[in-house]
Amino acid sequence: MHLSQVIPEVDTHTHTVLSGHAWSTLSENCSAAKVLWMKGLCLTEHAPGIEGGAPSFIPHSQRMLPDVIDGIRVYKGIEVNILDHQNHLDISSQHLMLCEFVIASIHSHMFSERAMYNANTDTYLHMLQNPHIDILGHADDPSVPCDFEALVSEACKQGKLLELNNNSTTAHRPGSLPSLKRYILCCKEHRQRVCVASDAHFHTMVGNMGPLMTLLEELEFPPELIVNLTKERFEAYLRERSARIVQFAAKSGGVN
Ligand SMILES: [Zn+2]
Ligand SMILES: [Zn+2]
Repeated sequence: MHLSQVIPEVDTHTHTVLSGHAWSTLSENCSAAKVLWMKGLCLTEHAPGIEGGAPSFIPHSQRMLPDVIDGIRVYKGIEVNILDHQNHLDISSQHLMLCEFVIASIHSHMFSERAMYNANTDTYLHMLQNPHIDILGHADDPSVPCDFEALVSEACKQGKLLELNNNSTTAHRPGSLPSLKRYILCCKEHRQRVCVASDAHFHTMVGNMGPLMTLLEELEFPPELIVNLTKERFEAYLRERSARIVQFAAKSGGVN
């Protein structure tokens, strides 16, 4: 398989105008995905910790949306902000549990202690232990340094995913390429499952991750580790997540 020529069937990280600084609507994103013969996208708006982000109850409101728009399965998710090294989030557990897919991210411009390597690592590890969180967003960001080996080890232990974000190949996060390569090679070495993501903020970006896919081919990344290459594989992961949450609820007597 030549990964450089593959468009994943599901894009796991997309934004709409509701994120406050993105430019397309959900309908426009779905139409763009349809043109590329994709089958699904995760709706992962920015949470309110980012200026202008969607309101904290957005996971509740998203339930009004149909599951399929213009032939594209829309998985209702969120990109929750990690607010500090005390592991605070800007979306409550009660709302996170309404989501089908949750990305937890540190956004360097709003994270003043971003240079603290050990504290960043510990915070990411804590996030991977949260049953509602599926994946860390753009943790390769070199302005938020952390221990990739530790992240991979914990993600593997918890059955979680790590994100490879196409914006680390673009001017959006300049200087990220060496860090992204190290992250990819660490995932490859330990056979860590990943999602490839556009982090689209405009409809032409949906599913459009050519530079990332080319890099993955160059680094001989195993295609079978990319969970969202096919909708079937992604939905198998979602069944895994459901089982995880049921198990957690049974253990704790509730999912809160
Ligand atoms: Zn982000
Ligand atoms: Zn994003």
